[in-house]
Amino acid sequence: MNKLTSSIRVIGVIGHPVKHSLSPVMHNAAIDYYELDLCYLAFDVLPERLEEAVKGMISLGFVGFNVTIPHKETILNYIDKLDDSARLMGAVNTVLIKDGITYGYNTDGKGFLDSLQKEGVSYQGKRVLIIGAGGAARAVATALATAGASKIIIANRNLKRVHELAEHIEKAGAESSALGLNDDEKLRFELEKADIIVNATPVGMSPHDNVLPISHIDCINPKTVVCDLIYRPSETLFLRKAREIGCKVVGGLGMLLCQGVEAFRLFTGINPPMEVMQQALLDEL
Ligand code: NAP
Repeated sequence: MNKLTSSIRVIGVIGHPVKHSLSPVMHNAAIDYYELDLCYLAFDVLPERLEEAVKGMISLGFVGFNVTIPHKETILNYIDKLDDSARLMGAVNTVLIKDGITYGYNTDGKGFLDSLQKEGVSYQGKRVLIIGAGGAARAVATALATAGASKIIIANRNLKRVHELAEHIEKAGAESSALGLNDDEKLRFELEKADIIVNATPVGMSPHDNVLPISHIDCINPKTVVCDLIYRPSETLFLRKAREIGCKVVGGLGMLLCQGVEAFRLFTGINPPMEVMQQALLDEL
């Protein structure tokens, strides 16, 4: 690590809680690699202190900051200029500060698409089933819709949320439909038909890693690509079962890495050292 001299500038990640975040490890590895006069730190910010925190970071000359749960949507109130990706997703995960002006971006969706590309998986013209309708599902679905997926089906426990997301996807340019997780008949049909299936729920995440996000997993076609956004454990029970069926599987670490790579590019304007960042994540996990 560079000496902490007075020329060091800060990049932050804000969340609540934020102790679990792997962003400091990943970004500081890249900062060290290029010996930049930067330092990446995590800040636990309560929802009611968000405005003060943003003002403080502007006053202190931060380069920018990443945003994680629960601030990804409320941070929009403090962004002066929104990039198209963030506007479309209605959420921001990366903020740049220049001359006191805040610029908001969302690299989550691109991170997911890049992680598929890295694994040689194409999504143009494909039928995608997404399980879950929260923030991550929205980012992934919006990115897939704008990048040419032909149909996006959302399955979720809460029906109001699933219909809202399906409507949003139609506006973003792809055909969409919504179903409840208990709708067995429709779920079986979609599991058989999907080219790509994505688990965007926390079901299967450590320490509760012995559960599946859906039933009827045996209906999945061996030609389907099965993804899980969870990265702890690196292979969830869902992915293990899908691999046993014969499916190609993609874990959540790639998305975490690729969204971080995009954020680093925005913060520094430098080509990110992807392998260094990946190794830092693997070491930490
Ligand atoms: P979120 O906004 O809280 O949404 C969670 C979603 O999961 C909701 O649709 C919720 O359904 C559903 N869900 C939660 N518990 C469930 C259960 N027991 N059974 C069925 N459905 C359940 O969370 P998020 O930010 O979208 O994150 C979702 C997952 O993605 C997390 O595991 C997170 O770690 C992961 N993630 C990974 C990356 C990455 O870079 N790899 C990035 C972002 C998120 P209801 O609507 O019915 O409540």
